[in-house]
Amino acid sequence: MVRVMPPTERAKRPIAIVTGASRGIGKSVALRLAEQGAHVFACARSSSTGEARSHGDGWIEHRHLDVTDHGQCRALCSDITGEHGSIDILVNNAAVYLEGPGPSSGRKFLTLPWDAISGTVLTNLLAQMDLVHATLPIMISRGYGRIVNVSSGMGRFVELNGYAVAYRTSKAAINAFTRSVADTVGDLDILINAVCPGWTATAMGGPDAPRQPDRAAEGIVWAATLPAGGITGALLRDGEHFGW
Ligand code: NDP
Repeated sequence: MVRVMPPTERAKRPIAIVTGASRGIGKSVALRLAEQGAHVFACARSSSTGEARSHGDGWIEHRHLDVTDHGQCRALCSDITGEHGSIDILVNNAAVYLEGPGPSSGRKFLTLPWDAISGTVLTNLLAQMDLVHATLPIMISRGYGRIVNVSSGMGRFVELNGYAVAYRTSKAAINAFTRSVADTVGDLDILINAVCPGWTATAMGGPDAPRQPDRAAEGIVWAATLPAGGITGALLRDGEHFGW
């Protein structure tokens, strides 16, 4: 039976935002965080805003959100803070891969429509920066926060090549942003990391990928629930440093 949250249960549990939670890795992350007791705002463009429903020890509340819409991002953070008083966890997972399959040729970048290039950077980088910019002051005011920017090994400098130039660039940049912005709150219990989930069988990763979304979610949930004094400003995979 579906249980609807009574008002007395509010503000007693970590409040989490997971973007891109309608499918794939983000959906698994949202479900796992709720199972562990968080109240999770599971956001995506295709999601309809609805009531909180119990899941495991926590709650899932679906929210319609296009992360590229600055006004929607700010309204979401303002609504959540107004109702619950905090945002404790942000999992910046939503991303697009608009370069399609094809040969590993750098020249492909030159034939990509500008919308594909700008859309990649807008969704995978600027939207993540926007949500960090919106939530970090709330975390600072409460002295606690965990932020995971879902990245990719494709953005590591040691892996950069001519295949998927826009996607790689967006992920390399989110890695740089993660490292840089984590340093601004290094004196507080606010831990900000980038996590590569590994090649995963999702709409983006395709059916041949060796990992399932639940497995990919493990390292993200781990980073989103690190204890005080945990690692920050790093690129991680499976709970370990993954070199830049
Ligand atoms: P999917 O394509 O399966 O899911 C992407 C999610 O992002 C969907 O829920 C989609 O929902 C949402 N999304 C896309 N654009 C927006 C937007 N503008 N606003 C809000 N939500 C949006 O991808 P994966 O689950 O595979 O990927 C999750 C993360 O993992 C991404 O950051 C990706 O780069 C990363 N990653 C994935 C790998 C893989 O092999 N799968 C490997 C390495 C990294 P909707 O369309 O409804 O908005």
